[in-house]
Amino acid sequence: MACIFCEIAAGRAPSYKIYEDADSFAFLDINPAAPGHTLVVPKSHAAMIFDIDELSLRRLTSAVKHVADRIRKVMGADVSVLQNNGRLAGQGVDHVHFHVIPQKMPHVVRLGHMGPRAPDEDLKAMTEQLKF
Ligand code: 5GP
Ligand code: ZN
Repeated sequence: MACIFCEIAAGRAPSYKIYEDADSFAFLDINPAAPGHTLVVPKSHAAMIFDIDELSLRRLTSAVKHVADRIRKVMGADVSVLQNNGRLAGQGVDHVHFHVIPQKMPHVVRLGHMGPRAPDEDLKAMTEQLKF
């Protein structure tokens, strides 16, 4: 079956489009976490952030910024930007997308809950593993 976000970005499936440029397409999420919850996708298919080339990602994040600016200006909202990769991360549609979520009373979405303070030795070990 065709990728639903490819179909939407190509205009073959309906969506509530709020922005489009040569490379990117932004439309309202049909199950919004808050009013104005928007998805920003590349027009060319890539499943996850691991699969998209860097230039396309730069263009996509530029579109994300335009959309976030617009939401802040129009809604007077703070804005959360979220992007999931893989099932455990919560990805449901395998076409790269950024969530741009207005944060405005009374619809404030708590996205991240911090854990307890990590021991410094754990942080140091993780730094050694991840730094490049
Ligand atoms: P994910 O969970 O993959 O990070 O986010 C996928 C998002 O796409 C979900 O928030 C879901 O509501 C939204 N979504 C799934 N199918 C459609 C669709 O056909 N149209 C629109 N506008 N949003 C969709
Ligand atoms: Zn696609």
